[in-house]
Amino acid sequence: MNIVFFGPPGAGKGTQAAMIREEHGIAHLSTGDMLRAAVAAGTDVGRAAQSLMAEGKLVPDELIVRVVAERIDEPDCAAGFILDGFPRTLPQAQALDDMLAGKGKRLDAVLEMRVPDDVLVGRIEKRAAETGGARPDDNPDTLKRRLAVYHEQTAPVLPYYDQAGLLRVIDGNRSIDEVREAIRTALG
Ligand code: AMP
Repeated sequence: MNIVFFGPPGAGKGTQAAMIREEHGIAHLSTGDMLRAAVAAGTDVGRAAQSLMAEGKLVPDELIVRVVAERIDEPDCAAGFILDGFPRTLPQAQALDDMLAGKGKRLDAVLEMRVPDDVLVGRIEKRAAETGGARPDDNPDTLKRRLAVYHEQTAPVLPYYDQAGLLRVIDGNRSIDEVREAIRTALG
């Protein structure tokens, strides 16, 4: 099963993806986590991404598409994967389709986790407090930028998946358990 978890920062994509990974035995591919690891390791990708991430901007499509293409070829993705934080632009969505078609694979579902912006701000503030500011982009100013980027560049991908018949909307403004149940139902 190959799934995309779609939604703004703080929508609960990472939390839910971790649970679905356990249940289905598929890989969890968070592009944010991959980029943070690259920054920590000081790789070329990390150096290219670091300041953009700190500012809450997207990294270039070619760069992230290359990272995902390599990761999807790893053996742990053979049984399926959850993409968390990718695609974030229409060119990324099209590149993903091409990449999967080239491997004889396709997406089974795109789950949009919907949460109002004011709730997201509260959640990110909580995450920043709990993690002691571990993520430099979990601060009110950068969050505003990340939300704006989501609405301007990422949300326009949704009609693409809706037209493909893959989109399922999940009300993410509920408890973790309720959202998990809704995801289970959506995945049938
Ligand atoms: P996340 O952990 O998903 O919120 O991602 C953290 C940051 O990594 C984002 O604000 C972007 O700077 C960068 N990033 C992660 N995934 C992507 C992507 N698919 N396209 C562009 N930038 C990304």
